[in-house]
Order: sequence, then C-alpha cells, then structure tokens
Amino acid sequence: MTTTKKELYGILLNLRETYRCKVEESELASVLDITGTGYTNHQADDATMVYDQTVTASTLKALKARLRQIEETIAHYENGTYGICESCEREIDIARLEAIPYTRLCMRCAERRDYDAGM
Ligand SMILES: [Zn+2]
Repeated sequence: MTTTKKELYGILLNLRETYRCKVEESELASVLDITGTGYTNHQADDATMVYDQTVTASTLKALKARLRQIEETIAHYENGTYGICESCEREIDIARLEAIPYTRLCMRCAERRDYDAGM
C-alpha cells in the first residue's frame, strides 16, 4: 500500500502538534532550570542544573528548527508544491516522504548536500 500525499499531510499536521507540545514543554523546563540554578547549597547540584539547562537550550533550538521545517512543509502542501525537490524540482520519491514527511530534497540532492557539507 502506498501512502498518498494527503495521508502524509495528515501525518504532518499530527507532527506539528507533537512538536508544538515538545517545544512548550522544553520552554517550561528551561525556565524552571534557570530559576532553580543558584538556589541549592550543593555545588554539584548547581553544576548538574547548568548542564541540564545547556542541554535543554540546544534541544529547544533543535525542536524549534524541526517545527519550523514541518510548518513550512505544510505551507508547501497548501501551495501545491509538496513533494517537489526544492533543489532539482523533481518529484521526491514517495517512499522517502513516508520516511521523512518534512523533507524538501530528493534522495539524490540530499546525498549531494551531505557530501557538500563534508558529511
Ligand atoms: Zn533533487
């Protein structure tokens, strides 16, 4: 059974909700971490909290970037350009979209971009 673009659109809408919740939770967690730091008498605890805060900040940044990517992909679906590679403008393989519904590059361009990035 092949997934249709409409089904993938539904998946993207669910993903958007999931990531919105994750971003909210992380924002809440980072606020709690900041207010918590410096209020304990144990240095080790403070160090742990600072470490947690750093992790949360980078996690939050990654979550927000992913959420933005999902939102842009949803906008592309609504424009009728979903599933078109933004580099070579060919149709992206549906199997690739099933694996990564918010991808904007076809397999070939993604591989080339990774290669260009030195990965
Ligand atoms: Zn391409």
